[in-house]
Amino acid sequence: MRPDILFPLFAPVTTLKGLGPKLGKLTEKLVGPHVADLLWHLPTGIIDRRFAPHVAEAPDGFIATLTVRVEYHSAPANPRHPYKVRCSDETGQIDLIFFHARGDWLVKQLPVGDTVVISGKVEWFNGMPQMAHPDHIVPADAKGEFDPVEPVYPMTAGLASKVLRKAMASALSAAKELPEWQDPAWLARRDWPTWRAALQSVHNPRDDADLSAMSPPRCRLAFDELLSNQLALAMIREHQRKLSGRSIGGDGRLRQRVTDALPFALTGAQASSLKEIYADMAADRRMLRLLQGDVGSGKTVVALLAMLNAVETGAQAALMAPTEILARQHFETLAPLADAAGVRLGILTGRDKGKARAAIYERLASGEIDIAIGTHALFQDDVAFRDLAMAVIDEQHRFGVHQRLQLSAKGRSVDVLVMTATPIPRTLTLTAYGDMDVSRLTEKPPGRKPITTITIPLERLEEVIAGIQRKITEGARVYWVCPLVDESEVVDLAAATERHALLRSMIGERVGLVHGKMKPTDKDAVMAAFAAGDLDVLVATTVIEVGVNVPEASVMVIEHAERFGLAQLHQLRGRIGRGTAASTCILLYDSPLSETSKARLAIMKGTEDGFLIAEEDLRLRGAGEVLGTRQSGMPEFRLADLAVHGELLAAARDDARLIMDRDPELQSERGKALRVLLYLFERDQAVKYLRSG
Ligand code: ADP
Ligand code: MG
Repeated sequence: MRPDILFPLFAPVTTLKGLGPKLGKLTEKLVGPHVADLLWHLPTGIIDRRFAPHVAEAPDGFIATLTVRVEYHSAPANPRHPYKVRCSDETGQIDLIFFHARGDWLVKQLPVGDTVVISGKVEWFNGMPQMAHPDHIVPADAKGEFDPVEPVYPMTAGLASKVLRKAMASALSAAKELPEWQDPAWLARRDWPTWRAALQSVHNPRDDADLSAMSPPRCRLAFDELLSNQLALAMIREHQRKLSGRSIGGDGRLRQRVTDALPFALTGAQASSLKEIYADMAADRRMLRLLQGDVGSGKTVVALLAMLNAVETGAQAALMAPTEILARQHFETLAPLADAAGVRLGILTGRDKGKARAAIYERLASGEIDIAIGTHALFQDDVAFRDLAMAVIDEQHRFGVHQRLQLSAKGRSVDVLVMTATPIPRTLTLTAYGDMDVSRLTEKPPGRKPITTITIPLERLEEVIAGIQRKITEGARVYWVCPLVDESEVVDLAAATERHALLRSMIGERVGLVHGKMKPTDKDAVMAAFAAGDLDVLVATTVIEVGVNVPEASVMVIEHAERFGLAQLHQLRGRIGRGTAASTCILLYDSPLSETSKARLAIMKGTEDGFLIAEEDLRLRGAGEVLGTRQSGMPEFRLADLAVHGELLAAARDDARLIMDRDPELQSERGKALRVLLYLFERDQAVKYLRSG
């Protein structure tokens, strides 16, 4: 249960001053539903009103705060003309300009003969200074009514910055001092303020240095967030460790048959990853290991051998893929090898219904299936295994921590191997997986040809199509990936359909289309036709992103490449360069490109190393975007910027480890404060694992 002390911070934003239902909704859209969400919305700039020159010296185009006497009002005869208020000081005169003004209101605000303080942008016009719609107008004796340095927040249309600032002030006063959850020695060493003081100061920046992510108050808040993340992961992990494991070590006979049947020898990286996996499985605690390897690095074989290790002991194994297509593909790749070893494979996806589904359930429960391949359908509540000992999750970035837990609940102490092709930078691995053990396939199977990557502006589309036609006559097979326009599949689909029609008209019949809205069987049919060589070109939305294996495909065109994340481009490009032919990737972009987009496409041209690409992407864009957030299952940080606070992340991990060693149930004074921290950042699930949570 969330502690009472946090209630004010989890009140809806609509309870804040100045936010009714309508503005509240906008605010919610901008920051999130709770008062705390607003507090995490940090300023990105300041407006400095401390500059207070005389009227004659107020420079053109600058924000200034002037103390002036009101001379007279001149209301326009024509309401379309502006209302003017002439003011002056001893050095000169200035006109205040108002469009669509309400005269009675202005007369009250600016009484003739009074001295007032005005603040806003000065503009010179025909030798005379003006200020259109001053941001502030207050009587001379009430100068303190506006803040001389105003924070500037990222905004959304329809929400005035004044309104947001007022709501923020009200949110800040709702933020009372909380018990200190950080180690006092660490705070002192870093010279960091308390949580509340840090919050107050990040929302009241005085200069650019205060806006820096490296400023002590920002670092403090970032560290709070990172610690909550690392502590929550450590607790989940600890919880899993406590569940007893079992020691698994097969006699190697099935693995021997498979390695004999493979047309290649394992790479060094595959062999050493397997060694690590076998050691984990042999230990009597649960395995929780991440296998990271670029597209095409050969994860599937590693997974198979690991699963066979379990099957050799008479137990079952499961392989879960994020999509139907991938599950089927795994099934087809593994079927001949399983045959060679005499191992029984089964497949279960959302498509299996009724009797067929019931039959698979039965074979899983009776143990007639040794290795089950499927989508998350495998881990529905009504699925039971006879004895599941090992589970592999492919392309984990599509699943969340939650599914991982669900899955390990399916068997008696299931060992879990998570495979990802997303080359997540080290820093980010830590945030998503905490201390999860990691094996990396850093070396590609031998014989891969490098991919030539070129960038071409969209205006040269016709030339590109002509080039493609030439390639096709030479026997190439081509992926054509259509732009990711927005979240809306409908729009993406329209773009893909249109491109498909154009390519058909120019290239001919042998151009197929596959997209996410198609019926699975239709989708499979098109993919199969492409794989079999009955189609030369496959136009696709990003459904082909992950995993699909057509070694003969040697050309990939990606339209609007500037709209894709680098990780995604890298994944897509990994679909080619798998066969014996030299491959080409053409990145079509809409010019002009921003500097960042230019830099990003240059990275794609410069390297095929996924880890390097990921690091660069993080540097260029920040963590949130690299991970593609929502669908990624990766945590989103509000206060920490991993491109800047990477060092703090490592410290947070160490601290979390120490805490778990000394006070695993969070019972001490600090432990109790840490519970508040976990709730503050909504890691409620982790707290549930505490005995007296
Ligand atoms: P990933 O899942 O990591 O993207 P795959 O497991 O699909 O990669 O492997 C890509 C291709 O490389 C497959 O055709 C596979 O048979 C082949 N392969 C895997 N390991 C080796 C190896 N050691 N030597 C040669 N080819 C390999
Ligand atoms: Mg794969």
